Amino acid sequence: MTGSSASVTSASAVEIAALIDTGEVSAVDVTQAHLDRIDSEDGALHTFLQVDTDGALAAAQAVDDRRAAGKKLGPLAGVPLALKDVVVTKGLETTSGSRILAGWIPPYDATITTRIKAAGIVILGKTNMDEFAMGSSTENSGFGPSHNPWDLDRIPGGSSGGSSAAVAGCLAPLGIGTDTGGSIRQPAAVTGLVGHKPTYGGVSRYGLIAFSSSLDQAGPLGRTVLDTALLHEAIGGHDPADSTSIPVPMPPVVAAARAGAGGDLSGLRIGVVRELGGQGFTDGYEPGVLSSVTEAIDVLAGLGAEIVEVSCPHFGYALAAYYLIAPSEASSNLARFDAMRYGLRVGDDGVRGLDEVMALTRQAGFGAEVKRRIMIGTYALSSGYYEAYYGQAQKVRTLISRDFAAAFQSADVLVSPSTPTVAFPLGARTDDPLAMYAADLCTLPASLAGTPAISVPSGLSDGLPVGLQIMAPALADDRCYRVAAAVESALDSRRGHPLLQEVPVR
Ligand code: GLN
Repeated sequence: MTGSSASVTSASAVEIAALIDTGEVSAVDVTQAHLDRIDSEDGALHTFLQVDTDGALAAAQAVDDRRAAGKKLGPLAGVPLALKDVVVTKGLETTSGSRILAGWIPPYDATITTRIKAAGIVILGKTNMDEFAMGSSTENSGFGPSHNPWDLDRIPGGSSGGSSAAVAGCLAPLGIGTDTGGSIRQPAAVTGLVGHKPTYGGVSRYGLIAFSSSLDQAGPLGRTVLDTALLHEAIGGHDPADSTSIPVPMPPVVAAARAGAGGDLSGLRIGVVRELGGQGFTDGYEPGVLSSVTEAIDVLAGLGAEIVEVSCPHFGYALAAYYLIAPSEASSNLARFDAMRYGLRVGDDGVRGLDEVMALTRQAGFGAEVKRRIMIGTYALSSGYYEAYYGQAQKVRTLISRDFAAAFQSADVLVSPSTPTVAFPLGARTDDPLAMYAADLCTLPASLAGTPAISVPSGLSDGLPVGLQIMAPALADDRCYRVAAAVESALDSRRGHPLLQEVPVR
């Protein structure tokens, strides 16, 4: 490859970092090439809410200066990144996709922002998302939806759909998402990317705008398994500023991604979860998704893995439990948007009282889905109903964790589709919340159990990407990467990736 801007934007993060390290291209040129591509393509894709042109070029210049001074560069130095707008950035507007936060400039950086900057990774800007990360399509964004680069009339997934569409459309080689119930894995699946939800507590939540605190987890998106692992390593590890951050060393995700690319999986037991698209549990799953995933599992068997079927009888209750727990926690977390401290304030005319200003602001600033969840959550937490709803959902959560523990007795990793369908058309589910929630069917169990899971491309169905989900026990994130890398190298999904050849956006 050459250093021309067209090929730089379709190169992997690893390739870009090598070009910068050897001096073949400057970090500033790499950043400018991506800014140019945002200019030409983002009118159609709408992936960025804010592009930080000056900040990005300054960060890239700092990498070039370090190199000129003979200093050693980190493995992702100078590589551009698309940052989900739920992550706070000092001095750069952060809205979490909500009108209630429009114009809010955070006074501090999230830990992952700090770590991204310390790694020399260049933040291009903040990406679109479903409001407060509630959704599966970006259609709940307060600022209009993003579009899938594979087909502009389809959803890019959600809630991290701005980041997924930006990376899939080659506007950035790396993206950050957050995953509360699937919001990294599902957008990765429907845009043909790799996306990993780390073990809960494996990546700091300090400076993420909270949706559901017992579930929220930030993680990496990339076009290759190795790129994704390198970004995970850059942001992961213990953070004393987050009380739920786990004080143990990072799982060896980069080494696992490299080892898995060798392809030999002998001795590894892979459990196919019956309740996630298996025999008798195919309702709601597209046949093309199931056949693509079955082919990927056959490929894994061909690499020496032993395939076993496992049953997780309580996974069928994950959706009901999640849609009580997540709204309950959200209703509490979103109480802070009180018209006084952040962003929007409506009706403050000096005559109206505090309660009225608060009500008017929340009415104007929150979208319909956010309001729905605040009401469901407030109801589920109210005295008299708490035990029947929130308490019961927490018990189901325990049963799901036990299903995982039992399944991991007979398998080292579990696999399933990442999401039941390929990217659906924009507008297809906006009037039907339950149909929208069904996109989370496969991703919710690992969210509720706090265990790691990755989505890796398994092929195409009707020309649209399908994702294979690989789940591992807590803190064994490296197993996800090892198996994902084996799938990637065996399927060579990258070479056939249309986005990496010609401009995907029509
Ligand atoms: N789609 C799920 C929801 O709407 C998951 C969102 C997420 O993971 N942030 O809650």
